[in-house]
Amino acid sequence: MALRSKLPDVGTTIFTVMSRRAAELGAINLGQGFPDYPLDARLGELVADAMREGHVQYAPMPGVPLLLESIAKRLEARYGLGVDPAQSITVTLGATEALFSAIQALVGAGDEVIVFDPAYDSYDPAVRLAGARCVHLALQPPSFAYDWDQVRAALTERTRLIIINTPHNPACTVMSRADLDALAQVLEGRDILVLSDEVYEHVVFDGREHHSVLSHPGLRDRSVAVYSFGKALHATGLRVGYAVAPPELTRELRKVHQFNTFTIATPLQYAIARFVAERPDTFSALPAFFQSRRDLLAGLLAGSSLRVLPSAGSFFLLVDYSACAPLAQLDDVGAANLLLTDAGVATIPVSAFYQQPPAQGLLRLCFAKREETLREGAARLLAFVGPHS
Ligand code: PMP
Ligand code: GLN
Repeated sequence: MALRSKLPDVGTTIFTVMSRRAAELGAINLGQGFPDYPLDARLGELVADAMREGHVQYAPMPGVPLLLESIAKRLEARYGLGVDPAQSITVTLGATEALFSAIQALVGAGDEVIVFDPAYDSYDPAVRLAGARCVHLALQPPSFAYDWDQVRAALTERTRLIIINTPHNPACTVMSRADLDALAQVLEGRDILVLSDEVYEHVVFDGREHHSVLSHPGLRDRSVAVYSFGKALHATGLRVGYAVAPPELTRELRKVHQFNTFTIATPLQYAIARFVAERPDTFSALPAFFQSRRDLLAGLLAGSSLRVLPSAGSFFLLVDYSACAPLAQLDDVGAANLLLTDAGVATIPVSAFYQQPPAQGLLRLCFAKREETLREGAARLLAFVGPHS
């Protein structure tokens, strides 16, 4: 029987491949974005408590009310957004499911979706599985600034959705209020929705503010915003996220969600709600926590021939290797492979986030790691690429 692949050009993601190879080779893994430090033990206790209490059957399809309420309270405090959690918040299997379900719900055959490259790798396949097509607009390093005239020019009768990501993985930028104003202006009077990937909402540096579509009066009525407890609680394996959207968009999203994952692990939802209630500084502690790691890694690499690009947010920083003798002639996949096999450090080649990768030598490093991991990873990189000349 001939199999017709729906995604013939898609392989296993670069994150999975790099983590697997790093484990096989015993390399320091600065590739995939996940913490390697231990979880706050209290969260584990609360998961066990929830299970002992018998919270082990199907949760309500939109989410456990205790967790929905807890999210709504935080949205109110953070974004001034007064939503009815029963109608506007849906707990999902990580942000990945929120993105996927939103895309399946909102676009279909013949529709166009604007995405900005470099783009997180799940957007394009999800759009194609919905029968729609991505129009990729490239952001230019080192600033990766948005060109709103270019966006306006890319809109057609078929444009149905625009996907944004702030703080941005992998560009490590954050959108300004002026960017959101410009986006709102571009979309004014048009029947176009926004899917806003805000999984790093709390991971912004140097006193910056995260600007959410939820706090923008010109955008929130046409937007689905997506979040991840995996990022905020340092536990990417929890696989609990959520989508926030006006009731009419939420209704559509839930039609997909209920046949995609149906409901999300009940004991985890109880445990997360209780953990957040017990630890009110959970989210406010995140900027300083990650900024110190960013500064440590950037500082350790400062004397090397790798050029560290500024990181305004996310778990990552980018390095330009064009002045590193052993790497300069290689494309970024070749450079990442050589660093993995010969320096013993896993990184992510930024070309993986492009439809048409530009000729640029950028690698992404994750600093959501223990201090020892960052020190050892940086020492290995420095030994391999040599000092700044
Ligand atoms: N969007 C971005 C930009 C991400 O970096 C990630 C994961 N690192 C996700 C979505 C997916 O989040 P989750 O792990 O909650 O599915
Ligand atoms: N979002 C993570 C990263 O960018 C990876 C998640 C995944 O492997 N799907 O590293």
